[in-house]
Amino acid sequence: MWLELDRGADPGRVQRELSALGLWVTRCSGPQGIGFWVQKHSAHLEPEALQIEGVRAVFPQASPHPRVDALAGLTFRAGPLSIGGEAPVALCAGPCSVESRGQIEEAAAAVAEAGGRALRGGAYKPRTSPHAFQGHGARALGWMRDAADRHGLAMITEAVSEAEVPRVAEFADVIQVGARSMQSYGLLRAIGEAGKPVLLKRGLAAQLEEWLLAAEHLLVAGSGPIAFCERGVRSFDPSTRNLLDVGVVALLASVYRLPVLADPSHAAGRRDLVVALGRAGLAAGAHGLLVEFHPDPASALSDGPQALDRAGLLALGQSCGTTLEVA
Ligand code: PEP
Ligand code: MN
Repeated sequence: MWLELDRGADPGRVQRELSALGLWVTRCSGPQGIGFWVQKHSAHLEPEALQIEGVRAVFPQASPHPRVDALAGLTFRAGPLSIGGEAPVALCAGPCSVESRGQIEEAAAAVAEAGGRALRGGAYKPRTSPHAFQGHGARALGWMRDAADRHGLAMITEAVSEAEVPRVAEFADVIQVGARSMQSYGLLRAIGEAGKPVLLKRGLAAQLEEWLLAAEHLLVAGSGPIAFCERGVRSFDPSTRNLLDVGVVALLASVYRLPVLADPSHAAGRRDLVVALGRAGLAAGAHGLLVEFHPDPASALSDGPQALDRAGLLALGQSCGTTLEVA
């Protein structure tokens, strides 16, 4: 918002009154005289509340992502999965890659036992190396759907290219946009056009505003509701795979009031830190967790070092309050 002052008004007094209302402002001089920009993390006040003595005019600034803003305070729902609002902590878990019918069935059973609401696994995998396992593709979708249904779980899986979006949409309850795809605008359009709920991961080095605008792309194209997933950003320190940005989790949850998950698995890159980072994400306000789990991590075809085994998943459920929700 931009506030213009009356000529002759005392800018210092106006600024003090504005800060008392919870606004952080930047003072600027323009052709119309002195004014204040209201910084974006200030209190949310209606323009009428700012017409204090000395303020000549208030210009509300249009948001660049009005459709995202309209999701504020709403609960994300997709079948048995609810994220945000009054919903309990949402646990979404499963193997990085769907490797066989037996593996995903075993995974679904453990996810349900840990209090999970969604089975998350990759049929199509975005891999840094073209020599790494790329996923079983279409046939894994059917294995996963069957396993999710058998255990009353929502199914979340990623689409990595426009061509496979219709097939993914046919099977999945929620389409995942991976970190590497967050700014693939053609893919975002195709996923949006499928009209399904979307789990939107944050890009490896994406700013919050870029992330929100990626969500706006999906909504403009016609997507269902969107849940955000913070999975760690690139940092200078390779000690952990990525750096879980709990500040952005807190911003999304408490300032933007948008549904957000923390993904401690891709943030940590190692299973012994997953529970601690999951708890940190929840402490910052995340409405749930996305966690990688494998019935036999040592044999995993992707992301084995960060996968919890069954005992680890159950311990995470206990520690993060997800098992308490299943009566
Ligand atoms: C994944 O969820 O398995 C994955 C590839 O994650 P990201 O897109 O966050 O790297
Ligand atoms: Mn993974």
